[in-house]
Amino acid sequence: MNPAQKQPAAQPRIDFHKLRLLVQSGFLLICLYSGYRFYQFYLWAMGSSATFVERPPAVEGFLPISGLVSLKRFLLTGSYDRIHPAALTIFIAALLIAIFFRKGFCGWICPVGFVSHLVERVARRLKILWRPPNWLDYPLLSFKYLLLAFFSWIILVAMDLAAIEAFMNTPYNLVVDARMLLFFIAPSATTIWVVSILVIGSFFLRNFWCRYFCPYGALMGVLSWFGPLRINRDEHSCINCKKCEKVCPGSIRVAEQTVVTSPECLGCLECVATCPVNNCLGVSTYRRVRVPAWLLPLGVLAIFFLAWAVANLTGHWQSAVPPEILKSYYPMSVNIGHP
Ligand code: SF4
Ligand code: SF4
Ligand code: SF4
Repeated sequence: MNPAQKQPAAQPRIDFHKLRLLVQSGFLLICLYSGYRFYQFYLWAMGSSATFVERPPAVEGFLPISGLVSLKRFLLTGSYDRIHPAALTIFIAALLIAIFFRKGFCGWICPVGFVSHLVERVARRLKILWRPPNWLDYPLLSFKYLLLAFFSWIILVAMDLAAIEAFMNTPYNLVVDARMLLFFIAPSATTIWVVSILVIGSFFLRNFWCRYFCPYGALMGVLSWFGPLRINRDEHSCINCKKCEKVCPGSIRVAEQTVVTSPECLGCLECVATCPVNNCLGVSTYRRVRVPAWLLPLGVLAIFFLAWAVANLTGHWQSAVPPEILKSYYPMSVNIGHP
C-alpha cells in the first residue's frame, strides 16, 4: 500500500511510550532508593556506622538464582523461603507476568532493561546502532538460552532437596545480598572489564545484555511463548512505513508479521505507540481477537503489586533473619566464596 494513500486516524490514543517511561522511571527510583537504604544497612552491619537502617527486602529482586532455588524447594516441600522471601516473591511475580502478559517484567519493570533502553535511545540518536546479520544474531541469541539451560540443569536437575536445603543454610546464602552489593560498590577488575564491555556493546548492539546474555529474560521469553496475548498487525491497513521496527527493543520485524509470537517481545507497546495508523497494531488473544492494549501494562503492574501486597500481608516479604544475625555474618561477605 502506498504510504501517501493512508492518513493517520485522529482518534485519541494512550501514549504508551510516555507511560512506559513513567512506570520504568518509578521502578528505577524505587531500586535506587532501596539500594541506598541497603548500603546504609550494610554499613551498620559491618560496624562502619552506628545508625541502624532497616534492610529493604526489595533488593532481593537482584537475586533471581536464589529465587529459582527457593521456588524448587517451595514446589517440593510447600515451605516458603524465610531467608530471602522477597526474592522468591519477585521471581514468582515475574514468571506469572511472563505466562500471561509477555515479557512484561522486562518491558515495564526491570531497571536493567530500562537503563539498556535509555542507552539504546542515545545510540539511536547518534546513529551508531548496528543490527547484526542473522548469521551472527541467531548464534548470539542462543547464548542466553545456553546459560538458562546451564542454570536449569544445575538447580532443577542436579540439585536434589537435600542439596538445596544444605545450600540455603550456608553462610554464603545468608550474605548473598551483601555479595551482590559488593558487586556494585567494590567491583573486581574482571567485573569492571565485563561491565565495561557490556555497556560499550549496548551503544552499538540494541539491548546487548538483555538480548544475548540474560538467562532470566530467556526464561521469561520461553514462558511468554505459551501466553494468551500477542502483538497483532492488521496487514490491510499497514502502510509498511516500518516505524514499528525502528523502535522495537526486541529487534522484531513487526512489519513482516501479522502476529508477533517471538520470545523477544517485551510487550512494551512501543510499536503500538509509534504506528501512525490507528488500530493497525494492537494486542490480541492467540485467537486473534483484539483486546484493549492497556490491558497488557495493567496486567503486568496488577500481578506485580498483588504479589507484593499478598507477600507483605502474609509475612512472605520481610526476611525472618534478625539484623543482629546478619551483622555477625556480613563481615564474611568480603571473602566468602560460592559453596
Ligand atoms: S532480559 Fe534480564 S536484565 Fe533485561 S530486562 Fe529482562 S530481566 Fe531485566
Ligand atoms: S513487538 Fe512491539 S511490544 Fe513486542 S517488543 Fe517489539 S515494540 Fe515491544
Ligand atoms: S504496523 Fe509498522 S509498518 Fe505498518 S503502519 Fe504500523 S508502524 Fe508502519
